Amino acid sequence: MPYSLPKLPYAYDALEPFIDARTMEIHHSKHHQTYVDKLNAVLEKHPDLVDEPLEQLLANLEQLNIPAADKTAIRNHGGGHTNHTLFWQIMGPSKSVDVELVAGIEKEWQSIDAFKKTFTDMATGLFGSGWVWLAKDETNKYHLHALPNQDSPLLHGHTPLIGLDVWEHAYYLKYQNKRADYIAAWWKVLKFLP
Ligand code: MN
Repeated sequence: MPYSLPKLPYAYDALEPFIDARTMEIHHSKHHQTYVDKLNAVLEKHPDLVDEPLEQLLANLEQLNIPAADKTAIRNHGGGHTNHTLFWQIMGPSKSVDVELVAGIEKEWQSIDAFKKTFTDMATGLFGSGWVWLAKDETNKYHLHALPNQDSPLLHGHTPLIGLDVWEHAYYLKYQNKRADYIAAWWKVLKFLP
C-alpha cells in the first residue's frame, strides 16, 4: 500500500478544550484513514502513478490519461489525504509562531487580525463541506481559497500553507451547528499565528 495514515504529532486530547479528543480520534483514525484507503484502492489500478508524489498527481490531474472516475477519486481521496496530513501539522497544543509567515500576512492584509477576519468570514460563509485555504503561488504571492469537498489548492497550482477543515465531521460532536464557535476555537490551536 503506497500511502498510510500518518501518526498524529500529539495526543488526541492535546487540543482540548478547543477541539475535543473524541472528534480528533474519529477525524484522524476513521475519516483520514478512509481517504488513505480509497486513495490506495484507486492507485492499485494505476501502478505507474504510485511513484509520483501526491502533490504532483493533484497538480497535473487533468493531464493524466486515466478514466474520469479515477481522476475524481484521486481528487477526493488524494486531496483528503494531503489536506488532513497538513491539518494535523499546523495545529498543536502550544503556539510556534512562524515569524516569516506573520510578516508576509501583515504586508498583504495589514494585520493578523484583519487576515483572520477575512479568513473567518470565508469559512463561515462556505456552503456545505469544504476547506478555506491560505496558499501561495510560484511567485510567493498569497491566495485565499474557499474550496468544496477535499479540493486542494494544489489543483490550482498553489502550495497550501494553512487550511481549515469546515466539514461537519471536524466539529459537529462538540459544536453541532455552531461553525463560528469552532472557527474561533481553531485559531487558538493553529500554531503558526499568534
Ligand atoms: Mn476532515
